[in-house]
Amino acid sequence: MGLGIARLHAPRVRLLGDLDLADDATPRSVEESGVSAAALSALLDRQQRAFLAEPFASLQTRKERLKRVVSMLETHEDDFLEAVNADFGGRSKHETILAEILMTLSAARDALKHVSAWMRPRRAPAPLYLAPAKARIAPQPLGVVGVISPWNYPLLLTLSPMIAAIAAGNRVMIKPSELTAQTSEALDRAIASAFGETECAVVTGGVDVGKAFSQLPFDHLIFTGSTKIGVDIARAAAENLTPVTLELGGKSPAIIDETADIQAAARSIAYGKLLNAGQTCVAPDYVLAPSSKIDVIIQAMKSSVAKLYPRVEKTRDYSAIISERHYARLERLVDEARQRGADIVPVGDAAQMKARKKLPLTLVINPPKDCTLMQEEIFGPILPIIPISSRDDAIATVNAKPRPLALYWFGRDRAAREAVLTQTHSGGVTINDTLRHAALESLPFGGVGASGMGAYHGKTGFDRLSHLKPIYYQSRFANQSAIHPPYSRHTDKILKFIRKII
Ligand code: NAD
Repeated sequence: MGLGIARLHAPRVRLLGDLDLADDATPRSVEESGVSAAALSALLDRQQRAFLAEPFASLQTRKERLKRVVSMLETHEDDFLEAVNADFGGRSKHETILAEILMTLSAARDALKHVSAWMRPRRAPAPLYLAPAKARIAPQPLGVVGVISPWNYPLLLTLSPMIAAIAAGNRVMIKPSELTAQTSEALDRAIASAFGETECAVVTGGVDVGKAFSQLPFDHLIFTGSTKIGVDIARAAAENLTPVTLELGGKSPAIIDETADIQAAARSIAYGKLLNAGQTCVAPDYVLAPSSKIDVIIQAMKSSVAKLYPRVEKTRDYSAIISERHYARLERLVDEARQRGADIVPVGDAAQMKARKKLPLTLVINPPKDCTLMQEEIFGPILPIIPISSRDDAIATVNAKPRPLALYWFGRDRAAREAVLTQTHSGGVTINDTLRHAALESLPFGGVGASGMGAYHGKTGFDRLSHLKPIYYQSRFANQSAIHPPYSRHTDKILKFIRKII
């Protein structure tokens, strides 16, 4: 169900958060955009009451809801593919199927397969001196979970948190991005056809609606988006002591060690960078490589692009940039680096592609550290290649920046790899490839420091959106009087004994 605000499109504010997009209009108030804060509160209230009527959704109910997600995806797949393509003005159908539809199906099927085990109370050891008491951890649904999602993978990043919330027995309210308005409307229609509004509801609208949404006293709020807006979300949620999971972005480095197979590394980096034209939170943002290898890497990147996209100017396999404003920002980043003396190597005919809002892979060789390209998350097909003098220099370069969402390392030297793994921080890591760690339901997915807090996917998501309630079951055979007052010499002996066995 929608709140009748689906057709209120993008007020032009800083939609990419810390990415420097020009403001050209003032945000409208919630009331101006057609949804009132009161309507949002009323919806939350209805969901909370529905939750109280069913505070512990049964395994059967959860599975049945998860199955509805699967059939909704299958029924509405064509609608979704069309909407995403229209929103981007050209998004590879294969990439939408692979990175959104199949990944969402995988999340739903993983939850269906494991939710019964996840729900089961878990044994916790009780110390000998408390025997025969028992300790358990019982996952309990939290209540109503809010989900705020971005535009770059608008299906996956809306539905995957929703799946975790449903598996954990919660009710869900969703605010998708106004930048992919047609997809948000398609999600609204699809979810309304499969779920009652107190099970799962979509609220569409712009930043104004997002702000009002983030002020609601949810039992948990899971936000995917930029680091800058993440700060606003955390601030708004703090007013209600609403716990947050912040899935943010950052500058994810790809380190090419001197022992790396350069051709294979270039192929992986080109693939990871050009999927969705670089508009991927875990895309490699920049490359660090030994100075002596830079020329070979440039050639290898060119031949990788030629293999992946033989006709990059024309192919539908290569996606467009989401909006003219985002396109103009990417051009500004390259222009600034050029003016500051960096070599620019476009791998494709930029002029020919511009009419379709597409930008070729643009290598930027050794830009100055303080140019915008090296300060902000790029979020497009521009790839700075930075020469480094040593392995320690690579580690120091990563550590000089805020902690990224992902890190990629290419090489064969185990000690060098371990040094990077233990001396740098990042949300996740893939060794000798890109993106892969983000696709596994068995691995927690989330950031660290500026790239986010909390993680989800698979059991991690279930746990994140549950209260893991500790329960102590006292035995009727327990005799605790020895440690109760009045204390005596006997108590001293007991304490001495406990001191030995703990
Ligand atoms: P964004 O932060 O601009 O917007 C995300 C969502 O927040 C949108 O629905 C938007 O309407 C809403 N919003 C905007 N301002 C708000 C406010 N003040 N209060 C409440 N809600 C508000 O992000 P974006 O441009 O949609 O997405 C790009 C960013 O998301 C990049 O930084 C990227 O790295 C990050 N990202 C992270 C992940 C991840 O899983 N960690 C995945 C995809 C994208």
